[in-house]
Amino acid sequence: MEKLVSLCKRKGFIFQSSGIYGGINGCWDFGPLGVELKRNLKEHWWYTFVLSRDNMLGLDASIIMDPQVWVASGHVEQFHDVLVDCKECKKRFRQDHLEGEQCPECGGELSEPRAFNSMLSTRMGVSDDSAVEAYLRPETCQAIFVDFKDICSSNRVKIPFGIAQIGKSFRNEVNPRNFIFRSREFEQMEIEFFCREEEEEKWFEQWQQDIWSWYLDIGVKEEKLRWLEHPKETLAHYSKRTVDVEYKFPFGWGELQGLANRGVYDLTQHSKHSGKDLSFFDVLNKERYIPTVIEPSAGADRATLAVLCDAYAEETVKDDLRVVMRFDPKMAPIKAAVLPLVKKHGLAEIADTLEKRLRKKFTTYYDHSGAIGRRYRRQDEIGTPFCICVDHQTKEDETVTIRHRDSMEQDRMPMDEVDAYILKRVSIRDVC
Ligand code: ATP
Repeated sequence: MEKLVSLCKRKGFIFQSSGIYGGINGCWDFGPLGVELKRNLKEHWWYTFVLSRDNMLGLDASIIMDPQVWVASGHVEQFHDVLVDCKECKKRFRQDHLEGEQCPECGGELSEPRAFNSMLSTRMGVSDDSAVEAYLRPETCQAIFVDFKDICSSNRVKIPFGIAQIGKSFRNEVNPRNFIFRSREFEQMEIEFFCREEEEEKWFEQWQQDIWSWYLDIGVKEEKLRWLEHPKETLAHYSKRTVDVEYKFPFGWGELQGLANRGVYDLTQHSKHSGKDLSFFDVLNKERYIPTVIEPSAGADRATLAVLCDAYAEETVKDDLRVVMRFDPKMAPIKAAVLPLVKKHGLAEIADTLEKRLRKKFTTYYDHSGAIGRRYRRQDEIGTPFCICVDHQTKEDETVTIRHRDSMEQDRMPMDEVDAYILKRVSIRDVC
C-alpha cells in the first residue's frame, strides 16, 4: 500500500488535499493522471449501466437539498455512528470498527460509547440570522427519490426502469483511513431500479450478475472479489436485503459497493413528508402503486483504488526492477505515448505530427528526452498500454513500432493504421 500511495503522489495520480498547508484529513485530490483514470471508470460505468440500456435514465442533482429530505430519509435521526474516545491518546474510533475493548493504537482505556451524526452541515443564506442549516448530501440516491415524480412525468417510462446518478457525497467519517478507501468527500455511482414487488428477487439477482461483470470488465481480478450477505439482524432500517461486493485490498477485504432491496421505504417516506403522491401508474397492468427499489450503490473512489491496487506490479527485467501499472487499456489514463527514437534527423517532427493527430482520438503523451529504454519505463510506471516509436525506418516506409506494455514486445505497422489499432483496444464504447 505504501508503494502504491507513493507512486500515486510521485506520478500525479492522487495526493492529499491542501498539502502545502499540511494536508486535510479525509480529503484527496486527483492529479492529472488520476483524473483521467477516474473519468474512464465513471464513463465506463455510465456507458454500461445507462447509455447502453433502454430502461435507464440519468440525473445530476444538486448536492445541497432541502434539509427536510434528510429528515424523511431517516438520516437526521438514524445516520449516527457510535463513537468511543481513547482516554490516553485521545484518538476517536467507530465502535463497530473495533475488535477488542482497548484502544487499537495505544491499548488505552476507552470512553463510554456515544452517538455522532455523520452528516456534514453548512449554512445557507447571506446573513447570520436568516441563514439556515443545510447538509452536504451523505449519499446520491435521495435526489433520485425526491425527483422521481418530475422524472416520470417528463419521460415515457415503463416499469421496470432505473435512474442513475454519479456525484459527490460527504460523510464526517470518524476515522478516515486507507488512502481513498474511506474519505470525508467521495464520489458515488448509484442506481435506483424500480420494479414490481413480485419481481424483486429476479431483479436483485440480475443486478448481482451485472455488477460482478462490470468489475471484471474494468480489469479487476475475479479472485480478489467476493460477495458478503448482510445478516437480517444487522440490516439498515430501510433494507429488506443487502449484499456487498468486497475486494481484497492490501489492508484486507473492504466493501466496494452495496446492493440493497430498499423496498418501498424511500418513496413512501418522501410521499408522507412532502405531502406529494409518489405512486406510479403502471400502464401495462393498469395499476397504481409505489414501486419496489433495488439499489446498486458503488463508490467511484473505492473502485479506482481497487483498479490501482490490481494494476500495480513489480518484476525483474535484466537485473533491473520494472514497476508497471497493468491497467486494462480502457482504464489507462494515457493510451499511447509517441516517442521519436532520437530528436534529430527529422524524427521528432514526424512524431510530433503523429501525436497531434492521435490526441484527437484518445489521450496521448509525447516524450523525446532521454534514452528510449528509460522512456518506455516511465510509461510502464503510469500504465500506458502502447508506446509508438518513430525511428529511421519510418522515414523510408512510413511504418512505426508499437510496443506493448505487458509483454514489452514490439510490432511494426504502417503509421496510418495506428489510430484504428489503438482506438479499438482502448475505447469504452464499441467501435468497429
Ligand atoms: P462503510 O460500511 O464502508 O462505511 P457503507 O456501507 O456506509 O460503507 P454505503 O452507504 O452503502 O456505504 O455507500 C455506498 C458506497 O459508497 C460504498 O460501497 C462505498 O463504495 C462508497 N462509500 C461510502 N462511504 C465512503 C467513504 N467514506 N469514502 C469512500 N467511499 C465511500
